[in-house]
Amino acid sequence: MEDRPPVVIGAGPAGSRAAATLAAAGLAPIVVDEAPASGGQIYRRAPAGFTRPYRTLYGFEAAKARRLHEAFDGIKGSIDYRPETLVWDLKHGALHCLFDGRSREVPYRDVILAPGARDRIIPFPGWTLPGVYTLGGAQIALKYQGCAIGTRIVFMGTGPLLYLVARQYAQAGVEIAAVLDTAPFAAKRRALPGLLRGGSTFAKGLWCVAALRSSGIMIANGIRSVAADAKDATVSTLRYRDAAGTEQRLACDAIGFGFGLSSETQLADLAEIPFSFDPIQQQFLPERDIAGRTPVPGVYLAGDGGGIAGADAAEVGGERAALALLEDRGHEVDKPHVAALERALCRISGFRVALEAAFPFPADIAAGMPDETILCRCEGVTAGEFRRAAGALGAGEINRAKAFSRCGMGRCQGRVCGPAAAAVLAAALDLPLERVGRLRGQPPVKPIPMAVVI
Ligand SMILES: Cc1cc2nc3c(=O)[nH]c(=O)nc-3n(C[C@H](O)[C@H](O)[C@H](O)COP(=O)(O)OP(=O)(O)OC[C@H]3O[C@@H](n4cnc5c(N)ncnc54)[C@H](O)[C@@H]3O)c2cc1C
Repeated sequence: MEDRPPVVIGAGPAGSRAAATLAAAGLAPIVVDEAPASGGQIYRRAPAGFTRPYRTLYGFEAAKARRLHEAFDGIKGSIDYRPETLVWDLKHGALHCLFDGRSREVPYRDVILAPGARDRIIPFPGWTLPGVYTLGGAQIALKYQGCAIGTRIVFMGTGPLLYLVARQYAQAGVEIAAVLDTAPFAAKRRALPGLLRGGSTFAKGLWCVAALRSSGIMIANGIRSVAADAKDATVSTLRYRDAAGTEQRLACDAIGFGFGLSSETQLADLAEIPFSFDPIQQQFLPERDIAGRTPVPGVYLAGDGGGIAGADAAEVGGERAALALLEDRGHEVDKPHVAALERALCRISGFRVALEAAFPFPADIAAGMPDETILCRCEGVTAGEFRRAAGALGAGEINRAKAFSRCGMGRCQGRVCGPAAAAVLAAALDLPLERVGRLRGQPPVKPIPMAVVI
């Protein structure tokens, strides 16, 4: 047990840096990632045989991407790297990993969870039509495969990714019908003093918006989605209300939408880390201190999996969590360096607060979701059926509402519909979001073949 190597789950910015720190200290961590290559979401590598240069793939972040990839490639000989391996369960000191169609157990003594984040969505009528994608999905199509989701696209939602993905598509030569932001312009203006603390990150965001505007792309603030309509079973129009409340229509053959990110917290849940509600990010998050230590001995959290803070914070947090693990194993660590890492994390979290204020989660859209909207696409549960679970059946919290309605019980296990379902339930019960709770994590955390579990 003493000699058992530490395990890192995720090889994005957080996991890569954690692995490098552990390797530098002479430990040979096991690094597990379901992706075929390291890099995570932001620094996702192109498949073998694709030859697009770093500048085309990662824009402003090209140098960072190259540095992270090269650092990871440099330690491959001194770590036990297991790509294409999904951790689908975690209990009693063992990970259950799916690799090559078979499940294997990986016992651990210490584990750093760095599973990142996913898109946060709010369903609207028509969101399940062919041609409607999440922002992250749209970006992956472009970044990974070099494919566009359509030829005339509306991007809708809120958050920095909205503008970034629109800009990436515009740069790739795709026609952008509009960028529609639910955040009112006044929220951005109010958040400006905090945003300015973001330095070059904020400057890159401003540049992105300016580049969209100078290409003649319409950007609208304070909008509300109405519905996507179809022609020949494919999305053909997005209807929305502008800031003045007037309904507008935009012809398009694809929509990319998303409202910020949600942390991937199921593994933390299975590791029995307690959760608390974060009023800034408007979601329940696993508890950890600034070093990444959780209340569960031997379990550490790094990166967006413990709360959305972006790629730079994920790298710093990954190194800090690895140093915490080393300290807890009795290794000497460089205390001034540790203090510098923690200062950097505090600085970034200040900027994050301003971002959340500038691009608030529009809970009112979920509250007003028309009854006929499909809320849970896996189980085909509408918002109206879900509200019935709250009203007629008396479900006062989200797990009860799930049991009564099957919302969140399908393949995605509530990863996609959970945040919106909580907002719908809170509005139906006239309760604050934190009072309706959160969907409990269940294995398998992502879909796996039945043959693996029976
Ligand atoms: C779709 C998407 C696109 C994004 N694009 C951008 C962008 O262009 N620019 C930007 O600044 N920020 C972007 N972000 C945010 C940015 O990716 C994160 O802030 C940053 O990557 C966080 O780093 P991380 O290491 O915490 O997580 P990630 O980079 O997400 O890495 C997590 C890794 O864990 C692996 N993993 C997760 N669960 C499991 C499991 N159960 N078993 C095995 N492996 C697992 C994943 O395969 C992934 O490689 C994006 C986020 C998302 C979700």
